[in-house]
Amino acid sequence: MALLDVRALSKSFGGIEAVKSVTFGLEKGELLALIGPNGAGKTTCFNMLNGQLRPNSGSVRFEGRELVGLKPRQIWRLGVGRTFQITATFPSMTVRENVQMALISHHRRTFSLVSRAVSLYADEAQALLERIGMGDQAGRACAELAYGDLKRLELAIALANEPRILLMDEPTAGMAPQERIELMALAADIVRERGVSILFTEHDMDVVFGQAHRILVLNRGELLAEGTPDEIRANEAVQEVYLGGG
Ligand code: ATP
Repeated sequence: MALLDVRALSKSFGGIEAVKSVTFGLEKGELLALIGPNGAGKTTCFNMLNGQLRPNSGSVRFEGRELVGLKPRQIWRLGVGRTFQITATFPSMTVRENVQMALISHHRRTFSLVSRAVSLYADEAQALLERIGMGDQAGRACAELAYGDLKRLELAIALANEPRILLMDEPTAGMAPQERIELMALAADIVRERGVSILFTEHDMDVVFGQAHRILVLNRGELLAEGTPDEIRANEAVQEVYLGGG
């Protein structure tokens, strides 16, 4: 069985069937892309995987354990993390402090004095920042960061939670093309090094075909195709519906 085993997942909003009986697996150490035109159901899928939305039917099993019915926080604690389209950092804190806060939260430590927290996990936070190539920016205020660096910082914050699975919702949105490729190449390296599995949505096809190990194509809520980048490129149904005949 796959690490994350999604079976016949469905969700309707009123009369709209946003996701229709979607089934797929995410393997350990896999970088899996979920693509599809606007309104295909990608965000709805993500929201069901991390517990923000309850499916009408279907199951999501993580290491055999059913996630449907659990709250987002419980799912996060089990090791299924998520990054969002909108960055969620504390702008007035430094880059390192933002990662420290994530580490403190992960280790369930609480402190009555903020000053005590300042030195906690500083080395671990620095190491994570070095890994994503932001070691030299650790002391800067988040508010000063370029957008691309903020997105990289978000990856470090997500990794602070030591996820087994990371759901990345349009991680490269708003970035320049070269930055997008670099960010997902970094994600691919991290998948390899840590054995994390990543499921990501993405509109940039260069990023998807260049980095993903496997691709899922959603169309109007249904899984249209699934395969390696080469298989998806050669898939006629995908070409017709999604890639505009190209
Ligand atoms: P995009 O690429 O534009 O983000 P998407 O693939 O993520 O699109 P979803 O946002 O999951 O697609 O939307 C799937 C369908 O469900 C759309 O028709 C959308 O209008 C509808 N939908 C999503 N959320 C809701 C909601 N809360 N209430 C009603 N309809 C919704």
